[in-house]
Amino acid sequence: MEQFETIEKLINSLRKLPGVGIKSAERMAYQILDMKKETREEMILAFKSIDDISLCPICSSYMEKGVCPFCNDDKRDEDTIVVVSYFKDALAFEKLKSYHGLYHILNGSINPSKGVGVNDINIPSLIKRIEKGGIKEVILATNPTLEGETTALYVSKLLENYPVTISRLAYGLPMGGQLDYADELTLTKALEGRSIIRKD
Ligand SMILES: [Zn+2]
Repeated sequence: MEQFETIEKLINSLRKLPGVGIKSAERMAYQILDMKKETREEMILAFKSIDDISLCPICSSYMEKGVCPFCNDDKRDEDTIVVVSYFKDALAFEKLKSYHGLYHILNGSINPSKGVGVNDINIPSLIKRIEKGGIKEVILATNPTLEGETTALYVSKLLENYPVTISRLAYGLPMGGQLDYADELTLTKALEGRSIIRKD
């Protein structure tokens, strides 16, 4: 309906969110329209600020105003990298008191059935970091899922010829689970009990 073009556009935008169908998108759109003006303006401002977020050219973490909270923090152990599939997984490690190293965010996992190959995730930039030197250990912390395991296996094979220790999070993490859902104790134990795949 032409006279409701703006509402239609809003609904269509909301439908782009994963798992949101037409009914949910409509409901959300009307809830937004029913909001108090100040609440809605706050929301619009939050959406506009998304443009201030970019990806760190080194570790691919999200960063605001051009500063990576991990790579730009000189109090970190710069010789250890935890490799995760998603930014939210790095945040799960940040909650632990026991990890003070750096991260590398792959932004995905190898998943041939979804057409995600090795060149579609941030593996080349990880290799570049290792080649630059100074890294002693790479901890593979992809999710305990088929895709996560495939990714960890692939990365560990790629790193085989570099002078770094490669380790994988210990089990105790439920298979098929999501790393960012694991409680702090489970994740701490998985990190402490990590198995060494290759010792440098
Ligand atoms: Zn970074």
